[in-house]
Amino acid sequence: MPNCKCANMKLSNNTNLESQKKTADLSNSNGNHKQKVIIIFGPPGSGKGSQAELLSKKFYFYNLETSKVLEEKFKKARSGESIEVDGKKYFIAEEAKLWREGILCSTTLVTYLIKTRIEDIHSMRKSLIMTGSPRTLYEAQQLMPYLNEKFGKENISVIFLELTAKQTVFRNTNRRICELMRHPILYTKENALLTRCPLDGSKLVRRKGLDSPETIKVRLKEYEQRTLPLLTYFKEQGLEIKKINAGQLVEKVLKDILKALGKDYKNYEL
Ligand SMILES: [Zn+2]
Repeated sequence: MPNCKCANMKLSNNTNLESQKKTADLSNSNGNHKQKVIIIFGPPGSGKGSQAELLSKKFYFYNLETSKVLEEKFKKARSGESIEVDGKKYFIAEEAKLWREGILCSTTLVTYLIKTRIEDIHSMRKSLIMTGSPRTLYEAQQLMPYLNEKFGKENISVIFLELTAKQTVFRNTNRRICELMRHPILYTKENALLTRCPLDGSKLVRRKGLDSPETIKVRLKEYEQRTLPLLTYFKEQGLEIKKINAGQLVEKVLKDILKALGKDYKNYEL
C-alpha cells in the first residue's frame, strides 16, 4: 500500500470552504488508492452522527448520512411529489409522515436513494462513511453485494457502537442538534447549558417529533426488530464487526474506532 494521502472531498450540501480548499486531485493517485467504506452501526443515540462527522474530517471521506438524505428529500419535495421505484410509486409526504413517527421509511425507496448516492460517490473515486444504512435486511441484501463489488469486501469496515438500553433512552430524550448544520450535541454536563452550537453559533434545537419520548420508543423498537438482526447478516457475509463501547466520551469512542480500523487507515489521515 503506497503512502498516498486520501483527500476525498465532502459532497454534502453543507458546502464547507475548508473542504473545497483541500480538494485534492485524485486523478494522480495512479490507481493505487483504495476506496474505503466504513459502516457505522448502532442504536439511536449511540453517537453515529458525531463519529461519522469526526472520521469524515479526519480522512476526508464522504459522510453519507441516510437521515440527512431523507430529510433533504422531504424538505425539497413539492406537494404530491412521488418517486417511482420498480414500478411502485412512493409519495414523499407519506414517507415523511412515517419518518416523523419514528417508523422506518419504505425500504425500497431508501435503498434506491442511497444506492444512487453511492454510485455518485464511487464514480468520483471517493471513500465513504455510512450511518443509517443499511437499516433493514432488504436494504443490506441490496447494498452489500453492490458495495462488495465496487469497493471490495476487504475495504469495508463495520463499526458497531454499543450502548445499553438505559443510556439509549437517556441520550435520545436529551438530544439536540444545531439549526444550521445539524451538528449533534450530546447531552453531557458540559453541554447541558449550551444554547448555541460551539462550531457555528447557530441555535440548538430538538429535532421535531423525532426525539419525543413516544417516538423514541418506536424508534428503539424498530431498531431492535429490524436493524439489529443485520449483525448476523454481516457476519454471514464474512464481515468482521468491530464492537466499540459507545457509552464513553466522544473523544474516547473515536480513539477506539481508530484503533479498531487499524494501521491501514494511517494512509488516509490528513
Ligand atoms: Zn453547528
